[in-house]
Amino acid sequence: MNSLRFNAINNLANTQASVKVSNPARVTAVFNENVFTLKTARHYLSDEAYKSLVASVRGGKKIDRSMGNQIANGLRAWAESKGVTHFTHWFQPLTGSSAEKHDSFFTLKGDGTPIEEFEGAALIQQEPDASSFPSGGLRATFEARGYTAWDPSSPAFIMEIGEGKTLCVPTIFVSYTGESLDTKTPLIKALVALDKAAVDVCQYFDKNISKVTATLGWEQEYFVVDAGLANARPDLTLAGRTVYGHAPAKGQQLDDHYFGAIPERVYAYMRDFEQESYRLGIPLRTRHNEVAPAQFECAPIFEEANLAVDHNTLLMDVMTRVAKRHNLLVLLHEKPFAGINGSGKHNNWSLSTDTGVNLLAPGKTPKTNLMFLTFFVNIIKAVHDYADLLRATIASAGNDHRLGANEAPPAIISIFIGKYLTDVLNQVETRVSGHFDEQDEAILKLDIHKSIPELMLDNTDRNRTSPFAFTGNKFEFRAVGSAANCAGPMTTINTIMAETLKSFKKEVDSLIEKGEKKEVALMQIIQKYIVESKSVLFEGDGYSEEWAEEAEKRGLGNVKTTPLALDAFVTKKSKALFEHNDIYSHPELEARHEIMLEAYVKKVQIEARVMGDLASTLILPAAVRYQNDMIKNIVGLKEVGLPETAYANQKQILEVLSNHINTIADNVEKMIEARKVANEIEDMRAKAIAYCDDVKGNYFDIIRYHVDKLELMVDDNYWPLPKYRELLFLR
Ligand code: ADP
Ligand code: MG
Repeated sequence: MNSLRFNAINNLANTQASVKVSNPARVTAVFNENVFTLKTARHYLSDEAYKSLVASVRGGKKIDRSMGNQIANGLRAWAESKGVTHFTHWFQPLTGSSAEKHDSFFTLKGDGTPIEEFEGAALIQQEPDASSFPSGGLRATFEARGYTAWDPSSPAFIMEIGEGKTLCVPTIFVSYTGESLDTKTPLIKALVALDKAAVDVCQYFDKNISKVTATLGWEQEYFVVDAGLANARPDLTLAGRTVYGHAPAKGQQLDDHYFGAIPERVYAYMRDFEQESYRLGIPLRTRHNEVAPAQFECAPIFEEANLAVDHNTLLMDVMTRVAKRHNLLVLLHEKPFAGINGSGKHNNWSLSTDTGVNLLAPGKTPKTNLMFLTFFVNIIKAVHDYADLLRATIASAGNDHRLGANEAPPAIISIFIGKYLTDVLNQVETRVSGHFDEQDEAILKLDIHKSIPELMLDNTDRNRTSPFAFTGNKFEFRAVGSAANCAGPMTTINTIMAETLKSFKKEVDSLIEKGEKKEVALMQIIQKYIVESKSVLFEGDGYSEEWAEEAEKRGLGNVKTTPLALDAFVTKKSKALFEHNDIYSHPELEARHEIMLEAYVKKVQIEARVMGDLASTLILPAAVRYQNDMIKNIVGLKEVGLPETAYANQKQILEVLSNHINTIADNVEKMIEARKVANEIEDMRAKAIAYCDDVKGNYFDIIRYHVDKLELMVDDNYWPLPKYRELLFLR
């Protein structure tokens, strides 16, 4: 009876510490071991081929066929020296995870001689059958071809699964007619647009700057549960989150988990996936417990954004795989458990120049301060102008549970910059005059540089509630969901920044053409941008009711659900933005919108099915069994001639029990009907709204409420699903 749950609990004692993880002497000894870095390439390539690879990595230069052959040969020689037999183009389609199709180096020559080979053509381009990947109607199914094309800026690596080793070549994925079908293509385009726009603006300050790179340091939050217990929770295995479960007597109220000692079994798991990550060149640096029980976080040293995005995708994959070795299940979902914190993925983002300057680090001299202020204010303006797009970019079924749930930033996009910089902006706004005089110069002389660290310390607590916070030398986009591919938010941020910088430059240039001094022109447009966008600045408590009211007065958006938030992708403004910057054509944008809506529908649909199945086949039978026990008990007491007072309590329990049972059965029926209605809807947006409002909105909470009440009443021996106290505290 209920064997899965109780077996899992019994087995826990045996699965503990089953995997031994030995430490490498030093991380540097294994770091990049499985990566074809430029340093490794130097050993395997001719001068000519090496130069061609470097030019392509650093300057985006195209690699010709003969060089391609040489590089492919070098790659194969390196990979074979490590026992690799197969290669794959590794890409990130719009499914949210990575994809690969392995081919062997092995082939037969015309005369039947078996050989190993890897040609340049196979390295540079492949044609996987793409008909089963989401395309939002861009590629009719009869035209199944899609292309993957090598992205040399993200180095090839070796993926080890058990004893098998595969050479993975990071690629973009596009349709036969050239539309992007992945997350990397638009990201690379956005990074190119940003580079160009930022370098142009940098010329006002330093003519030596010829490249600006966006940097990203993500922080990955996750939950870990025992795999045996998780196996007895079909909701966790199918939907990645618990659809039922009463809050345990002990939750996170004692705040005893955050930064606490890492439990030994999880610690072994962390060290194991960290080591695998190091060998893949993922520079993990930080690990700690998070706020909720069974919740943890890891973060790397920041990298160039495209590489950082690949590394995050790869890490999520490695984490999932390595967890199995430890009999654990890692949950990357934004809200695996109700009532305790969900998981996010803060995206720390900045811009750095090829002269070694972080453009978001306050300067030490008036001149560098002016450059800092320029970029700083341009971001504020970009976020202000495209707040709805940023909101759309983090929208997902999972993140809907988290945003605004009093533990994560609200669905209102605002920026926290701290008291000191608020002062600086106020001064620029009120004091900058038509001429660049001593007063203006005084503002720039402010020691922004020195005052920031102190200020950040003061505000760490409060600024946790902000979705987009300045943290000293970078912005931190905190509303990103833990399961998200960072490419989405990174594409949007870099595109809106590129667009804003372009307009900024136009406005400054036009003042200069009218005879204004450069500094005056810059200060005037900075001032103008502050005035135009200051409504997006907010220093207070983002979790509060008052902020929601205040934000509404300021005209800031507060869209709470994904189907509506996604509208921002296909507005006229958004289409123009992405087209101007050569990121998405209109059809591409519309296709993506459709794909995201469809993903939402499917996720909610799966959850609804799981809820119905679990209620009908596990919860209600357990409750009925308990109901029968209760009836037998009452009948028995009556039979032996006891007065009604002797079983009054039981009768009352029976009544409450029956009420819960009936309400659940009734609502599950209705939910199924609502699903049928929603499934008939053709238009994807309307369908998503129906799933959001009619299926989820009308039934999820009420069904869950009654199931969770039953959990507190029904004999524990009958309860089929591992309870929160077991999932969260047993390992
Ligand atoms: P916290 O939890 O206080 O936000 P963490 O150390 O966990 O701090 O994470 C900070 C992240 O920000 C790290 O990944 C770090 O590498 C990254 N970071 C630091 N400087 C930059 C920068 N200039 N650009 C992008 N990311 C950065
Ligand atoms: Mg952070």
